[in-house]
Amino acid sequence: IPEVSAVQVAMSASKPQRTLIAIGSGKGGVGKSTVSANLAVALAKMGRKVGLIDADIYGPSQPTLLGAKTRPEARDKQLIPVEAQGVKLLSVGQLVGEGQALAWRGPMAAGALNQLVEGDWGNCEILLIDLPPGTGDVQLSLVQKSRPDGAVIVSTPQDLSLIDATRAVDLFGKTGVPVLGLIENMAGYRCPHCGEESDPFGTGGAEASARDLDIPFLGRLPLSASLREASDAGQPPAAGSGPAADTFAGLARALLA
Ligand code: ADP
Repeated sequence: IPEVSAVQVAMSASKPQRTLIAIGSGKGGVGKSTVSANLAVALAKMGRKVGLIDADIYGPSQPTLLGAKTRPEARDKQLIPVEAQGVKLLSVGQLVGEGQALAWRGPMAAGALNQLVEGDWGNCEILLIDLPPGTGDVQLSLVQKSRPDGAVIVSTPQDLSLIDATRAVDLFGKTGVPVLGLIENMAGYRCPHCGEESDPFGTGGAEASARDLDIPFLGRLPLSASLREASDAGQPPAAGSGPAADTFAGLARALLA
């Protein structure tokens, strides 16, 4: 019997041939949004039709990361995603002015997030959803409501981040969402001046945790100033060429494997 991956199972089972993949993290600031944006771009470069939902109400950064700050139009009360870098995007950040999303209370956030999920995603085959960091009520109800086909968790190699990542695995387990894998971000740093390699957040922690939790390890991404600069400028490194683009292409392949 040929082996069938979790994504393939999810793809064949989901309704309009669209796979919804949630990207979560136990805590903020680990690079979940950066990874989501670049995975989306890498999947689009592989010829997939990709949509990205930025549901991070605490810090919607996808409009900046993908250089797409235009307000989406609506047709028949349905939001039309904005296209950037070959990816269709709807973000909480496009609906409100910068900084305003932080003031949202539960019901308002839930209503807005629902509008994003129910947007006009047209022919998208894969929809990535950049979840708010953490494992609180907003995340739980969003996961319960949108029922993703699978989840990816982003963590740094650091113990503290991994403990929280374990909680995220637990959240998806409780809601019956298969965890497709763990991505380790900020793994290792190579000094651009002297070439010395160091590990500011430790090394190998996420791979070991993935093994302990019995979930796939999809790969790692180094801490890199050029990646940060390109991200801030709205030029996702996955869209270009070079080592970062290769790394994201590898992560996208691992996700679909
Ligand atoms: P999260 O979505 O988990 O809160 P972000 O993707 O917003 O995290 O990243 C937090 C900050 O860290 C941002 O300033 C981002 O540019 C930076 N960052 C993320 N990944 C890397 C990396 N691999 N190297 C350097 N900076 C990174």
